[in-house]
Amino acid sequence: MPNRWVRLLFTTTLLLPAFPLRGQSHQATLTDAGPVKDIAMSVRLSDTPVLPATSPGAPPKFDPADHRNPPQVPNHDANGRTCPPHQDCPPALKLRIISIIPNSFPFATDLEQFGNAIVTSAWMVQFNAAYDIPGPAMARIIKVDDMPDLNQGKKEVSDYRDYIFKKARAAGIEKAEHHQTIYVLYIPCDDKHLPRAGMDSFGCSSHHPGIDPTAQQKDKLFGPTDSMAVMLGFNPRTQPSTITLDSATVAASHELAEAATDTKGLLQFKLHTDDPEHPYIDSGSNAGGSPWVRESGTVELADMSEGARVSEPRQGSTGMFTYPRIYSNKASKAGGDPAVPPASFPYYNVSTDQDWVSVTAGQSVEIPVTAWSTQSIDSWDVNARVARWMGHTATPPAAAPCSLSTKRWDAHNNFKFNVRVQTTPAQPAGAWCILNLKSSKSVPFGDEFHEWFVGVIIRPPTPQDEPCVCGDGFKAGPAAKAGTEACEHICRGHERH
Ligand SMILES: [Zn+2]
Repeated sequence: MPNRWVRLLFTTTLLLPAFPLRGQSHQATLTDAGPVKDIAMSVRLSDTPVLPATSPGAPPKFDPADHRNPPQVPNHDANGRTCPPHQDCPPALKLRIISIIPNSFPFATDLEQFGNAIVTSAWMVQFNAAYDIPGPAMARIIKVDDMPDLNQGKKEVSDYRDYIFKKARAAGIEKAEHHQTIYVLYIPCDDKHLPRAGMDSFGCSSHHPGIDPTAQQKDKLFGPTDSMAVMLGFNPRTQPSTITLDSATVAASHELAEAATDTKGLLQFKLHTDDPEHPYIDSGSNAGGSPWVRESGTVELADMSEGARVSEPRQGSTGMFTYPRIYSNKASKAGGDPAVPPASFPYYNVSTDQDWVSVTAGQSVEIPVTAWSTQSIDSWDVNARVARWMGHTATPPAAAPCSLSTKRWDAHNNFKFNVRVQTTPAQPAGAWCILNLKSSKSVPFGDEFHEWFVGVIIRPPTPQDEPCVCGDGFKAGPAAKAGTEACEHICRGHERH
């Protein structure tokens, strides 16, 4: 965390939208010197000379390298069909956000302020605008001393539903017609707890369970599209605690945004496949065979821009609240930074021309990658890893069928490199792996990283892929395959005698 002084100066820059927001790189150059940079630099690097700003109205010419942006994420109707082309998706409702916070939770007082601040935040305004969610949102806070924790016993989503009902009714909260109410719960969760961590199959990962009310609860409080957003990132058994205020507000608003945009009966923006064991196949559920789909079969809007952040000044207090920037179909389609609210630092990422490449089991393939940024910035790190594969989540998990020889690059706009993927031989039919290419750069109050996904489909070898072995046992070099003319030619001198 940078110190508070820089924090306050950064706040100032956020409040001055008339300033062109340019890169705050460490390397001072004429092209990216601007008023904002000068303010930040004069504090952070006092020995850096203040450079003259470029003349107004003549921004330096910069061309982001040709690239693809992440896929468009479709909305779905009640039958799981995309809108458009279908036109029967329900409109979004105004949001009512009720935060239920244990008094003993870390940062409980800050989270209470956050629960109120979120509804008037620029984050909320921009997120609502991106998905045509009407405003303004309403906020209520319930502070509690008896939140059921996930450190002992066994609790279900329905136990939290009943708890919410009891607490909300006691706080005088009524049914809100024409609203989607999202209950944001901060629940301590021990990820080692047996027989099962958490309230459902998501363990101690924050998520957004729907609310399936009883008849009485429906009558008195819950609407058909109400939902929870549960923040489970605090494990009281971890000493010292690793939770920060930022991690709590980011997780809570991530789940809040996804509860608002992916709840049955309302907006359902997601990439989804019915066949997550074969994600490269468009199974008719609209994922389009995208490698962005997670092992659950689904990826949602906040997930699509994981790592993107925005901080807003806190009203009546020093410091900031940090939110996850949310993937916007419109912003993404425009080709630049795909998340909202817009960032104050230039966006950077990598992309590949193809979603999937195919390779024969046992062989390697080179995947061409292009790095790009929206403005001129210093280089950033790209780290590649094999993120998912067939049988990854099985018990016991299957071994990864892919490996990478090089995993790190220093990237800049228009930098091109190949990721070499080696596959293991003897894979089951239909095997595959998905690579995560993570671009990261340290930017105070900016995005932490940006992701790209590309998949590899592993074909079983055909007779043509078999190595060329002659009648006397002589093995030709790897370029010659069985059954080819080259193999035949080589083997003419190696007949069995
Ligand atoms: Zn998510």
